Amino acid sequence: MIRFFNTLSGKLEEFRPLHNHEVRMYTCGPTVYDYAHIGNFRAFIFEDLLRRFLEFKGFSVKHVMNITDVDDKTIAGARREGKALDDFTGGYVQAFLEDLTTLNILRAAELPRATRWIPKMVALVEELIQKGIAYVNDGSVYYRVSAFPTYGKLSKKKLEKNISGARVDVDEYDKEEGSDFALWKKAKGGERAWNSPWGEGRPGWHVECSAMSMEYLGETFDIHAGGEDLIFPHHENEIAQSEAATGKPFVRYWLHCKHLLVNGEKMSKTKENYYTLRDLVGKGYDPMAIRYALLSVHYRAQLNFTLEGLKEAAEVIRRLDDCYAQCVSLNTNLRVMLGSPLLNPNLDLKSKLNHVRRAVESAFEDDLNVSKALANVFEGVRVINRAISENLTEPRNVQPSVDFFKFVDQLFGFDIAAYDSIPSQIVNLVIERWKIRNDANFMRDKSLQEVSDRLRDQIQDAGVLVKDGKPGEASTVKRKRRAWDQP
Ligand SMILES: [Zn+2]
Repeated sequence: MIRFFNTLSGKLEEFRPLHNHEVRMYTCGPTVYDYAHIGNFRAFIFEDLLRRFLEFKGFSVKHVMNITDVDDKTIAGARREGKALDDFTGGYVQAFLEDLTTLNILRAAELPRATRWIPKMVALVEELIQKGIAYVNDGSVYYRVSAFPTYGKLSKKKLEKNISGARVDVDEYDKEEGSDFALWKKAKGGERAWNSPWGEGRPGWHVECSAMSMEYLGETFDIHAGGEDLIFPHHENEIAQSEAATGKPFVRYWLHCKHLLVNGEKMSKTKENYYTLRDLVGKGYDPMAIRYALLSVHYRAQLNFTLEGLKEAAEVIRRLDDCYAQCVSLNTNLRVMLGSPLLNPNLDLKSKLNHVRRAVESAFEDDLNVSKALANVFEGVRVINRAISENLTEPRNVQPSVDFFKFVDQLFGFDIAAYDSIPSQIVNLVIERWKIRNDANFMRDKSLQEVSDRLRDQIQDAGVLVKDGKPGEASTVKRKRRAWDQP
């Protein structure tokens, strides 16, 4: 049974999608006025983990992530740089897509940009006006919060604080609880604006997500996820808009990820604890270590991000990498070693690893209990390393080890098993070199040593690292995959 914590009910609930094998999921994407920071990516990686797990369980996940390319911040940014709004946001959209690839985050099937869906937003606002939920005031349109009795049900904010008739025009607010919020904002001079029945203007941020999510996923869909900072007002307002318009429940499961701290404090540009992904990659950190650091704490728990922790994460990724490389080398080297390795017919890695895999899966089923899942991954690595060190290797045990890493990649996206084979012409070079190094004259014959060195260079030029064993032992080879990988 899969269970998730639903912010709406405040409880762990069994997860069952509305349509048998399909999960419809909407996640709030970036506001493209700057490069995304690691706090944003904690949420995006959590959502990626959620999606990978659901796909692993056999669901087809229809994932939509919006891109907010018009709001207070994007407009202010474009004005500051003297650019047209689309020119200003276009570069950040591109950068965001590149960042997703860097972190191995699966791309949503649809990434709608708000400015491409303005007519849908206008239609939604018109419907709310017709239903008496929204009203026009001086070219802007506002949502009358008092007309939606269950307002506050997601954030658990009390409506008593509603200031009757008070209106807020900004997209983000936290004090004016229960104030009427803008659905459509009248254009200010020089701003990018669109036509509407109420004159030139632009949609409010909240209405963007209601319109686009329902457009792609229907009036009621399964999962809406995001960072906890979006619960109020953004998601609360999305519910108010959508449910008032359709009269149906908007979203069945709301999942929110806790924000992160950096060095024990809230991340802030003024405190020098503010990192974009690009800052960290620029400092030479392995993107997979960043991914690990951001997902290794349960999504509803506080994560304290530090560079120290990131170094430890890099060490973990290196350990996984090394173990996998050994498995692949064994696959290759079994063909290289002419003498037979010690075989242990009693060793059954496959069933041991299957047991570990089942434990990882059931940790995920329990509201994505990632720390428990990772503990089991490390247990799997220990089992494999022990088998390797005891030289208990044979093809029937090597393949389950390789498969184990593919399983880990599928759920965690660490990209460990990305290169699982070494081209056969390279294997032939390795074999040729191994024969030369085992020649009785090798230690005395300079020309043999030169041939061996030349072959090693050739192999390494092809992106394969060679590590020589003791005399008489085969060299191990592994694919070079990270820039700082050393032989
Ligand atoms: Zn949203």
